[in-house]
Amino acid sequence: MNPRNELDTPMFRLAVAQFDQAAELMGLDRNLRERLKLPDRSLIVSVPIRMDSGTVKVFTGYRVQHDSARGPSKGGIRYHPDVNLGEVAALAMWMTWKCALAGLPYGGAKGGVRVAPEQLSSAELQRLTRRYASEIFPMIGPDQDVPAPDVGTDAQVMAWIMDTYSQQVGYAVPGVVTGKPLSIGGSLGREEATGRGVVYVTLEAMRHLNLTIDQATVVVQGFGNVGSHTARIMHEAGAKVIAVSDKTGGLYRAGGLDIPMLLSRYQAEKQPLRDTKLGEWMTNEELLALPCTVLVPAALSEQITMDNAARIRCRILAEGANGPTTLDADPILTDQGVFIIPDILANSGGVIVSYFEWVQDAQRFFWKATDIQDRLHEIITTAFQRTIEFSTRRRTSMRMAALMNGIDHVAQAHLSRGLYP
Ligand code: GLU
Repeated sequence: MNPRNELDTPMFRLAVAQFDQAAELMGLDRNLRERLKLPDRSLIVSVPIRMDSGTVKVFTGYRVQHDSARGPSKGGIRYHPDVNLGEVAALAMWMTWKCALAGLPYGGAKGGVRVAPEQLSSAELQRLTRRYASEIFPMIGPDQDVPAPDVGTDAQVMAWIMDTYSQQVGYAVPGVVTGKPLSIGGSLGREEATGRGVVYVTLEAMRHLNLTIDQATVVVQGFGNVGSHTARIMHEAGAKVIAVSDKTGGLYRAGGLDIPMLLSRYQAEKQPLRDTKLGEWMTNEELLALPCTVLVPAALSEQITMDNAARIRCRILAEGANGPTTLDADPILTDQGVFIIPDILANSGGVIVSYFEWVQDAQRFFWKATDIQDRLHEIITTAFQRTIEFSTRRRTSMRMAALMNGIDHVAQAHLSRGLYP
């Protein structure tokens, strides 16, 4: 039996298929190819917690470190009922390439708990997080592996992890997680960072394609952290955001949605998207097929597949989510003239500002919001330019160019370090 059968899920297969295609194109050393396909370390933990009702429930948690040749491994923690080892391992691998492409001194990791967080009370969520944190305690640390928020987790969850870790060692360790509240060493601009990064790279792509933001229409799938900040910053930058959605469906207005009003009703007043009545209601499938300048899938993975790729009618696909497009959908999109900004580039703003947070924690010296924005802009636009230059020179897709760039940095680090023992 293959000892790694448990990794064999659609998402892990997608990550490996992308890696294989890039490795083939770049003629990557065979030995390295074998090493980089599998994660360095994978931990599966049982997370028992006492529910408010008094009964005990056991959840399953994971932490996977894909690679740490270039520095501590880095990546978020996901709370979602579909989380499994293969998904976490795929996300960890993408973090390795993402950090390397942006030039951050990190490897890649990811964690998750198989749970629907909205079904837990705040007290249950805290107990779950603290128990999970203490189960993965031996694997994490500011020089070892640094978690951050992802789908279903936020600054409060990071604060509980930071506290649990700090209680175990006996002193405050802000640098053990990023995406924390400001009061315990968080960074200005971290919460909106992924969305801001999506907007910065989209603006670069528009400049490249001779498009202007004031003429652009934008569709955003997903209205969580990434989607909502992307919609807001796109709107502030002058684009017309014509549709947004959450898992219940989408809201569409041809003349452009009133994004500030929508945010206040949906976030502050907790109104369901549909009840805001700020636009026409449609399914997520219909939303993905809207003609627009920019489509931002900012929900979960595998949304654009061979089955619906032919219906996508955007000029730029800016992948806010991780793995939103399957490999077989790529050539269909390219044939239709869609310019793809791949996930490891488009959504790297989050981990870039996580890096700033970790640096600020280490220095105990904190930066202004404008410093964060300027440095984020510099790093992400440089990564974009490097990718486009590579894709033109090597006549390859943006996705392959980004992956090959990231993989090459990691390969160089492995070749320099050699194989132990
Ligand atoms: N979860 C985010 C991602 O997928 C951020 C990770 C981080 O900041 O470490 O990129």
